[in-house]
Amino acid sequence: MTIERTLSIIKPDAVAKNVIGQIYSRFENAGLKIIAANMAYLSRSDAEKFYVIHKNQPFFKDLIEFMILGPLMIQVLEGDDAIAKNRRLMGATDPKKAETGTIRADFAVSIDANAIHGSDSQETAATEIAFFFPEINVYSQRNVSSGTF
Ligand code: ATP
Ligand code: MG
Repeated sequence: MTIERTLSIIKPDAVAKNVIGQIYSRFENAGLKIIAANMAYLSRSDAEKFYVIHKNQPFFKDLIEFMILGPLMIQVLEGDDAIAKNRRLMGATDPKKAETGTIRADFAVSIDANAIHGSDSQETAATEIAFFFPEINVYSQRNVSSGTF
């Protein structure tokens, strides 16, 4: 069992659709714990920094325009195999290709407005978590047994 952390962002389309709670339930039902969370409205410059890895892609401009349309719900998820598990819950980048029952299949309409972001490797998870949350604001639940409460 490898306990990992991953960064998740509920994108402006899904925040506007009022499905933050439904998406959080999916994390919880899959055994992922929300150990940091913050709603934020990114500046253009912060969005460009966050997605710098895609800066030479033809879709970069549209991606940035989309990510600054409205507030985002940003969270750190912790749990066994969290990075891959979260990617499975999200579904394929293009919602039309996403498996039924995934977040993108159920809540997204297009490859631009695709509801959710999730880190894709241990390296990007560490960089992306540090981008949004100082360690002091990340509250690991790893040593808290659910039997305690
Ligand atoms: P994210 O990083 O947002 O979790 P992802 O890892 O599934 O998504 P990436 O390849 O990292 O996909 O692309 C980042 C974002 O850029 C995608 O979520 C999507 O909105 C957009 N994007 C990716 N590929 C394309 C494409 N071929 N055409 C248009 N937009 C794209
Ligand atoms: Mg990605």
